[in-house]
Amino acid sequence: MQKAQSKTTNPSSEKTPAKRPAKKRKRLPKSAYTPDELNEIFQRLSILRPEPKGELEHVNAYTLLVAVVLSAQATDAGVNKATRVLFAKADTPQKMLALGEDRVREHIRTIGLYRNKAKNVILLSQALLENHGGEVPGDRDALVALPGVGRKTANVVLNMAFGQSTMAVDTHIYRIANRMRLAPGKTVDDVEANLLRTIPENHLFHAHHWLILHGRYVCKARKPDCPACVLADICKSPEKTCDIPAALVPLD
Ligand code: SF4
Repeated sequence: MQKAQSKTTNPSSEKTPAKRPAKKRKRLPKSAYTPDELNEIFQRLSILRPEPKGELEHVNAYTLLVAVVLSAQATDAGVNKATRVLFAKADTPQKMLALGEDRVREHIRTIGLYRNKAKNVILLSQALLENHGGEVPGDRDALVALPGVGRKTANVVLNMAFGQSTMAVDTHIYRIANRMRLAPGKTVDDVEANLLRTIPENHLFHAHHWLILHGRYVCKARKPDCPACVLADICKSPEKTCDIPAALVPLD
């Protein structure tokens, strides 16, 4: 009865959706670095690795998507070992479905969470065929709607397959952003937003790979290898053990 009354007192409510209160922009902690220092950091990382690449092996956007889905809580090397054989047999959603969940599971059984991942690979292949003509969509909302695909996976695919300047925050990037006080944040979403507003725009496209590789090989989780770091003089991390930067020589 009450519901009916409220409809008659506000007849326009069905046609005009209630205005949402303006979303408050979250205040993110500031970067510890000045714009000049930020430019210098990313300039050096760009000299070190002018054309950085991800380490997950793939042959097209579909196999990239599958490899990233498989890489959750697994090493790239472990994923590559399994996918070399898998992708030789199935490099399209059609071929993956033909292979079937049981055989996909067998191929990836050395990777953590393989049962669930095999199921998702089949489900996402089905969804690609049913909703996207067998192609990987270059759109974040469409990507995260696929089974097993989260924001980080979508960001990697948008960056590597579609050339978008996204920031896929993994464990390395989350650690570096906070340890260096580059773009601090309590959650991966906060770190992503903070990095996107902190990194100089001209360096944004490659920044995700530079930071991952810096975290994997130099600013490591257990103990940062500061004597091997080209950022040692600029870095403002309380964990830093050395002030002298390593030689800035391009890596292969
Ligand atoms: S100086 Fe040390 S703590 Fe700072 S970025 Fe380099 S490795 Fe990490």
